[in-house]
Order: sequence, then C-alpha cells, then structure tokens
Amino acid sequence: MERRFDPPFGEAENAALFRLLISTAVDGIMVIDGRGTVRLFNNACERLFGYEPGEVLGRNVSMLMPAPYREEHDGYLEAYRTTGIRKIIGIGREVTARRKDGSIFPIYLSVGEGVFEDEPVFVGIVHDMSERHAALKQLQELQAELIHVSRLNEMGHMSSAFAHELNQPLAAIVNYLRAAQRTVASVEDETVIRAREMMDKAAEQASRAGQIIKRLREFTEKRDTSRAEESLNRIVEEAIALALVGSAPMNMKVEKNLAADLPGISMDRIQIQQVVLNLVRNAVEAMEDAPVRHLTVTTRLTGEGDVLASFRDTGPGLSEEVVRRLFEPFVTTKENGMGIGLSICRSIMEAHGGRLWMTPAPEGGAEFHFTLPATAPRD
Ligand code: ADP
Repeated sequence: MERRFDPPFGEAENAALFRLLISTAVDGIMVIDGRGTVRLFNNACERLFGYEPGEVLGRNVSMLMPAPYREEHDGYLEAYRTTGIRKIIGIGREVTARRKDGSIFPIYLSVGEGVFEDEPVFVGIVHDMSERHAALKQLQELQAELIHVSRLNEMGHMSSAFAHELNQPLAAIVNYLRAAQRTVASVEDETVIRAREMMDKAAEQASRAGQIIKRLREFTEKRDTSRAEESLNRIVEEAIALALVGSAPMNMKVEKNLAADLPGISMDRIQIQQVVLNLVRNAVEAMEDAPVRHLTVTTRLTGEGDVLASFRDTGPGLSEEVVRRLFEPFVTTKENGMGIGLSICRSIMEAHGGRLWMTPAPEGGAEFHFTLPATAPRD
C-alpha cells in the first residue's frame, strides 16, 4: 500500500514549504528526467558546482561529471532503462563531480527514483565530501610521518639499549684477557707466547667492538629534534584520532576533558604525538577484553604552571611485577609486544624536561600521566 504524507497545510503553504526546503537545504538537490536532462538545481547545487541554474537547467546532467563518466552517463541511464539493474539508484555512493571551473571534487550522491507528470524522474542529493577527504588525507600524512619517526626512534632506542647491555660483557672480556696476559706474562714458553699474541688480538677486537657501540650510541643519541611552540590539546586530539583508527568496533567511550587555558609549549610535535599515540594504543589494547571500555583523557595546568596530560582506562591494570620495571626496555606482556614503547616515551618526556609516570586508576585500570614544563629547557 502506498504511504502518504499529508502535512496539515493548504496548497499555497505546501508550495512555500517546498521552496523553503529546496532553497535552504545544505546539500545539493537536483532532479533529472529519464533522458538525463536537469529539471531542478537548488541553491546548494549552485554553490557546490559554481553554475547559475540557467546554465544547467534543460541541459544534460553529465556536464556536472568528470570524464569518463561524462561520456558514459547516457549509457548508464539507457542500461538502467533496459535491464532495471540498479548501480546507484535507490542506494547512493561516493563519486566524483566537476565544477564549472573544471576542478573535480568528491561527493556522496544518493539517487531516488520517482514519477513526475507521468515521466520517470531521478532525484539526486549531493553531499560535498571535500572537507572529509582533506581531513582524512591530513590524518594519513600524519600517520605516515609518525610511523616513520617512531621507527627511527625505535631503532635508535633499541640500538642504545643493546649497546648498553653489550658494553658490560665486552668490558669484562677485555679485563679477563688482560688479567690472563698478566698471569702468563713471565712464561717464555713458545706455545704461551703464541697464546699471548692471540689474546692481544682478541683484546684488540673486543675494544674495536666497544668503539663501534660507542659510535652507534653517539649517533642515535644526538639525533636532531625540532622544537616549536605547539598546543598540547591539538596534539592530543590528533594523536587520539590516529590511535583510534580501526578501533570503532570495540565500542569504546572516549571522554575528553581538555583545559581551554593551556599555554603554548615548546616541543617536538611528532615526538609528543608519538607518546600520546603509544599511551592511547596501550589503553585500547588493555581494554580489548574488558567489560567496560572507557578512556578518559584530561589536560590541565598544574599548580607549578606545567601542563599535564592524563590517560585513564578501565582495563585490568598492571601487576606489581610489571609496574616495577614498567619503563625499562623489553618489558612486555604481549605476544607480539616489543616492550620498548614506554621506555621511548619516558626518554622523550625527559628530553623535554617533563615526566611520565603511572598510577592505578580508581576503577581498577591504569592511568598514565605526563607533564611538560611551560618553559622548556634548551635542546
Ligand atoms: P608493548 O606495548 O610493546 O608491550 P610498552 O612499553 O608500551 O610495550 O608496554 C609495556 C607493558 O606495559 C605492556 O606489555 C603491558 O603489559 C603494560 N601496559 C602498558 N600500558 C598499559 C595499560 N594501559 N594497561 C595495562 N597494562 C599496560
């Protein structure tokens, strides 16, 4: 049975309402007939495409499309007339459109089908997707930049951690060799003399390995960072958006309490973003199997004038054993974890003259906090 909608107005009011609806709609609305001729082109369409209605009405709608659709559109209509197979009619999808100046932009186009004065007509609603696309592109660029920098950071940090671990056994090897040489220093036996020479060579090689490690540490520790005055809230917002990409199915509630009165802080934007990203990802991962998934992010000014950011989750929290060594490298409880995220975060915060620490959250989860001093130390 056909459903009818009868507004409680007379004909004149209906016509006025119709005009109001068409002219004030934010999305473009257009009507084309079965041959593709434009019959209605509303104000939003004028704005979107840059055409006056007079330039479009009575002409083929394909003028609003870029090649190759422009040439193929009549064929689409024909195919629909003969086969009845719907590609976009009744559904809607993202397509590209062409402005009067020739520029091309993304739109979400939904098309309804109807009959007007005994003729089939199609009603198109056009939603401009340019801003969404630009935001998405910016997010992707940011993500690529972050991935690049975090790889560099991870490599630097890992080699630094390995170098630290390796230095001690290497120094011990050199010491033992020297002691061994001293022990047999006065023996003039042919075999012992040969062994002494070999010990010399071994000690030389161990010292060389030590030098390589020293250079590696110097190289990774002296990597340039670029500081500029930044808004912590903006960085937090961007990094949260990045960290949450792909976690929508988790049905997680994210609450942001970002203080409006924060001063600009001198920082390396990408590095601080990396810290936020790490903390949010850890929180999201910790809440994967939690019955309540609630992430609360807070920024505020402390009594000392520093800027503080906190990330509280409703995950299972941390065991005492993990807490004890939490910020050391290679501490992980994850199957595929490297356990260096938090130790990198801590070095980044310390290089900024700030701090990073964890407290148990009241609901049983974890809460990570970091501070950034309002007046940052010089690099
Ligand atoms: P990774 O994520 O590779 O394990 P991290 O240094 O980032 O390395 O984290 C170290 C360990 O700290 C994790 O394996 C996890 O056990 C614990 N952890 C970090 N954040 C949280 C959190 N929000 N809730 C519970 N445990 C956490």
